[in-house]
Order: sequence, then C-alpha cells, then structure tokens
Amino acid sequence: MKMKNKKSGAGALKKFLPYYKKYRGTMIFDLFCAALTTVCELVLPMIVRRITGAASSENLSELTLELILGTGALYILLRIIDTAANYFMTSTGHIMGTRIETDMRRDLFSHLQKLSFSYYDNTKVGTLMSRMTADLFDVTEFAHHCPEEFFIAGIKIIGSFILLCTINVPLTLIVFSVIPVILIVSVVFRLKMRANFRESRKQIGELNSQIEDSLLGIRVTKSFARESEEAQKFDTGNCEYLRIKAERYRIMGAFHSSTRLFDGIMYIVVVIVGAIFMMGLGGLPAITPADYVAYLMFVTTLLTSIRRIVEFAEQFQLGLSGIERFNEIMETEPEIKDAPNATDLCNVAGKVEFCDVSFHYETEQRNVLTHLDLCVKAGENVALVGPSGGGKTTLCSLIPRFYEISSGKILIDGTDIKSVTMRSLRECIGVVAQDVYLFSGSVKDNIAYGKIGATDQEIEEAARLAGAHDFIADLPNGYDTYVGERGVKLSGVQKQRISIARLFLKNPPILILDEATSALDNESERLVQKSLEALAKGRTTFTIAHRLTTVRNADRILVLTENGIEESGTHTELLQKGGIYSELYQLYAEIE
Ligand code: ADP
Ligand code: MG
Repeated sequence: MKMKNKKSGAGALKKFLPYYKKYRGTMIFDLFCAALTTVCELVLPMIVRRITGAASSENLSELTLELILGTGALYILLRIIDTAANYFMTSTGHIMGTRIETDMRRDLFSHLQKLSFSYYDNTKVGTLMSRMTADLFDVTEFAHHCPEEFFIAGIKIIGSFILLCTINVPLTLIVFSVIPVILIVSVVFRLKMRANFRESRKQIGELNSQIEDSLLGIRVTKSFARESEEAQKFDTGNCEYLRIKAERYRIMGAFHSSTRLFDGIMYIVVVIVGAIFMMGLGGLPAITPADYVAYLMFVTTLLTSIRRIVEFAEQFQLGLSGIERFNEIMETEPEIKDAPNATDLCNVAGKVEFCDVSFHYETEQRNVLTHLDLCVKAGENVALVGPSGGGKTTLCSLIPRFYEISSGKILIDGTDIKSVTMRSLRECIGVVAQDVYLFSGSVKDNIAYGKIGATDQEIEEAARLAGAHDFIADLPNGYDTYVGERGVKLSGVQKQRISIARLFLKNPPILILDEATSALDNESERLVQKSLEALAKGRTTFTIAHRLTTVRNADRILVLTENGIEESGTHTELLQKGGIYSELYQLYAEIE
C-alpha cells in the first residue's frame, strides 16, 4: 500500500516538474536566498561562544572592544543580508508559486473545455471548482515552500552538526541521536491528525450538502410539516462532526505535549550531559563554559528546524495530493476527438442520414437507439414525437457528435461526421433547447455568441428576425442591459428569443429544436413559435415537441419509441393510419 502510494507520488511529481522549467532561474535564486537566511542563526551561537570564551578568560584580558566591535559588525552585516534574503525569498518564492498555479490552472481550464458531454454527465461541477481553486492553491504553496523549507532545515541541521563537531564530537553525537526519535514520533502524530482532518473535511462536505438539500426543499418540508424530522436528521450529522473534532483535539493535545516533552528531553540532555562534559569526566574531551552556551543555543535552532520539517511534510502531502488530482483530470482523454486526418465540412446543404445507428450511454448497458435508419433531405422539416424517454433528445444530440455512436454511421451531405472536424460540424448545426443558458453579461454579448466578431447591425438584425428587438429596446440599457447570472433578469420568452437570435446570427443549415417551447405558457409559446418558424425556413429542421399542435405542419412526423421509429408520415397520413400517433393526438386534444 505504501509502496503504491510512493510510486504514484513519484509519478505525480514527474508530471509536475516541467512546470518548474520556465522558472528555473527564479528557483535557484530563491534557494540561494533561503540558504542566506540560515547563516545568521548558525553564526550567532559561534559569536556568543567567542565572546563568552573571551569573557571567561582570566582578567577578561581577551574581551577587548576590538573583538566586540568586530564580531558586532559582522553580525549586523549578516542581519542586513538576512533581512534582504528573507524579503526576496518570501516575495519571489510566492510569486513563482502563483505563476506555476496560474499556468496549471490555464492548462486545466483548456483541458476541461475539451472534455465531452459524457464527462460532465458524470462529474459534479462543484468538485471541479474546488480542484481549480483550493487544490491548486495547495500546489502553489507546495511548489516553493517545500524546496525552500527542506533546504533551510537541511542546511541548519547539517551546518550545526558540523559546527558542533568542531567543538566536541562525542557530545554532538549524543545530542543528535535524539533527533530521529523526535522525527518519528512527530510524523506518527501528524499522520493521525491528517487522517482525522480528512475525515472531518468529508463530514463537513456531507453536512453542507445536507443543509443545502434541506434548505432547498424547505417548502416541501413545511408543506408536509416535517420540520422536527429534518432537524433530527441534521442533528445526526452535526453530532458526528463534534465527535470527529473532539478526536482531533485529543490527538492535537497529545502531539503538542509530546513536542514539548521532546524539547525538554533535548534541553535536559544538553544541560546535564553537557555539564558532565564540562567536568571532563572519564577521559572524554572537555568543553568550556563558552562551548556549553553554544550547545544550548544550537539546540534551539535544531528544535525549530525539526518542527518545520514536520510541518512541511504535511504541506508536502497536501501539495502532492493536489497534483495527483490535477493529473487525474489532465489524464482524462476527451472521449470524442477529431480524427487525425479530419477535414472541414464546407458548404453544407443539410442532408442528414442515420445508417444502422446504435447507441447507448457510457454508464448504461441498454441501447437507447438500436439499428436505426433515417434519411432527412436537405431543407426537410422533421418532427420527432413519442413517449418521454424514447430517445428523441438522444437522437438529436448524436448529430453534432455530442456523444459517440456505438455502431453505424451518421452522414451529413454524404460525409461521415467522424471524418470532419468537430468545429466545422458544430458550426453547421444550431440547437434550441428547453432551458436556455445565457452567460452573465449583456444582451448583446449573448446574441453575439452566435458569430465571432458580429457587428452591432448584424446583432440587431438577428434580434429583429427572432422577434426580440422590441423587448430589448425597452430594457433599461437596451442591448447593453446586464442579463444577470444565467439570465435571471429576463423572462422565459425573452431568454428563448435571445437564444433564437443567437442562431439567426450563426445561420446554420441544420437546426435542432428540442422542446424549445415546453417551458412556456400558451401565449408565450405562440410568440416563440413564430420566431422559430422564421428561423426554420430553408433549413433542415428536427423538431421535438410534446405539444402536438406545433408539429402538425411538419413535412414528416416520426414516432420514436423504445422500439425505434415506429411510424413515419405526415399528420394526415398518421391520423388515418390510426396508430400510436393518432392515439397520442386524440389524448392530447382531450387535454387541451
Ligand atoms: P426523450 O428526449 O425522448 O425524452 P432521452 O433521449 O432524453 O429521451 O432519453 C432516452 C433514454 O436515455 C432515457 O432512458 C434516459 O434515461 C437515458 N439518458 C438520457 N440522457 C442520458 C445521459 N446523459 N446519461 C445516461 N442516460 C441518459
Ligand atoms: Mg428530451
């Protein structure tokens, strides 16, 4: 298990290293500054030792003003260097980390743009958001702190080891033998804390989704008078959180106390064993009182270094798992990609053919479409009707290749859609769906989405064709009115008309209208229907509608059920036939 972790960790790091490449110079400078910040700490005990040594000599004869000023000046100089080095390390280090974060986020975002519908069907957007932000922030911190901190601690530990060895080797070895014990105990505690931390994070996630679910459903709760049951349900999760948190503080308490205990042990060793060495017992090389002071001071340096290593071992883990999650997305291949020799689909007339097409969703076993054959002439207006779940939406989403068919072929003007570039394919197909997504921005921006670089005149023309111009002109800022997040400031008809204007600009030869008017009331539907009819003129159109009146005038009506296309013909033909369609129509007429 551990081996596996290590292996994947190393693999993750390998993928991450190229991001450093651009900043190699900055990194070296950063580490150089980091090295400089250790000098003061290493030199101070030596200076103090020198001065104490001079002072404890007979008659203080060696403690001269010269010595004091000399060492003082050296220390002041080192402090100045230390301040500057620390400034550069903190600022450039963090900036470099953020640059790397920005690069990674850019890559991640453009990769997410490439992933297919099926990926988003099975992924929560919330998770992706936290990957784009919080996880990558962990990576930034990791990117510069880890090299810096390990480098600094390494220099301090090795440096003090060497310096102390120049004073007294046996005593140094005794003092340093305590370090591995401290490291092991700290790491064990940290691991425990991390496991707990993960648990509590998960619990907070659960708690959040429970709160969200309950509050979103508050109207249902109230209408069923189930408030106390909801509160009870909530309390279970809340108490679980308390249990996890309490556990954490117990581990934390033990950890902090053990750290203090080890600090104590370190000092006890130096105070007692050092003093014994001062006595010069057992023929061991003796140390002077000045050396004794230096040892005590180095112990402080050592203890802080160890503590930082332990702290950053945790950040290292966090960063690593951030990188792993990053790689996980980057390694997800878009399910649908352009073929290597894909060509552009040009001058499309709009003939669409399904040849023996079968399809099932990646996550399902059951085929939605089985051996389906269908030929739609250029400019033909085809209506798809049938029971909900019959596969109408699915069939239409195969034409722009939103999903990849399992077998068979789809041809546009006789060309297999798999052999053309996705961009050119989707350029020639327009989709109007039941729910319209408007980007947060102005009305104009949203219409202009249909055509890159559309002029104001073109936009207005498209809006007029879609019957949207009048209401847009009445908005407080006309075309520059902000539509709100997802277009909340507009009514259903207004949104739908903007989405139609968008398609007038795009001007695709093939059109898919998937229950475009279903969410609207009768009056609004009539308005939008008029715009849609204008849009459909001269284009190959697939209309899906559950209000059968809207499809009466179609050139051909297809009844799609689980068994495939069961009936096909004009409204009158199908009514005469007396099959599924006529049944549906009668039922529908009764309801209306
Ligand atoms: P219709 O538009 O005729 O109501 P759909 O094409 O939406 O029917 O759905 C056809 C079948 O495919 C249904 O059984 C539905 O559950 C399933 N389905 C639709 N979308 C997905 C999806 N994204 N992932 C998995 N199954 C889906
Ligand atoms: Mg549908």
